[in-house]
Amino acid sequence: MRQRDELARMHVELEDMHSELSRLHEDLRFRARRDALTGGLNREALFSALGALARTHRGPATLLVADADHFKRINDVFGHLAGDEALRRIAACIAEMTTGGDIWGRIGGEEFVVFLHSSGAERAGVIADAIRRAVAAIDLTVDGKSVSVTVSIGAASVVDAFDPVDLFRRADEYLYRAKGGGRDRIVLDGRELDPLPV
Ligand code: GH3
Ligand code: MG
Ligand code: MG
Repeated sequence: MRQRDELARMHVELEDMHSELSRLHEDLRFRARRDALTGGLNREALFSALGALARTHRGPATLLVADADHFKRINDVFGHLAGDEALRRIAACIAEMTTGGDIWGRIGGEEFVVFLHSSGAERAGVIADAIRRAVAAIDLTVDGKSVSVTVSIGAASVVDAFDPVDLFRRADEYLYRAKGGGRDRIVLDGRELDPLPV
């Protein structure tokens, strides 16, 4: 009888250890895909998800590449910690303006990619502008001085199946034009987007 009780107890203990291990494993897998600073996908996970999506995606979608403006200056003037906080706030703006079907991540230092799952150019323009505005409205102060944070966005839309490399290249080229146009702006499918009325 005692041996049977002992066995049952050990069995329960083993089950507990097993579920704890699965939880740790899941946690590790999650963290391997995530950017620790912002909680978005990391570069590898983002491009891998985009590649996987591209194999089955049909219908409208838009890819945004958003890059923080003059970010080096923010670090230089306010310090690296303030820069990190600005990146977290930018990410929060992106997370707020996207929905479950969209994917987003930080693909480099101060560069983010957002895949808007079922938004054609028009809807994507509204979302991109909402992100741009929300970032410009970030209220961050360091030692009583306000940190001005803005992003420039390149946006490339598709109407159906797409090649992920090609789509990223287009969005990146538009981002370059948004920078050249003066920053804190959006170039969507080659055209600079007028800021939408509030
Ligand atoms: P532009 O408007 O042309 O994009 O100018 P920029 O200064 O943003 O671009 P640049 O590529 O010259 O500088 C990017 C800066 O971003 C330099 C680097 O120190 C900073 N950076 C990259 N990753 C991080 C990060 O994780 N944290 C912080 N605080 N800064 C970062
Ligand atoms: Mg930048
Ligand atoms: Mg950059």
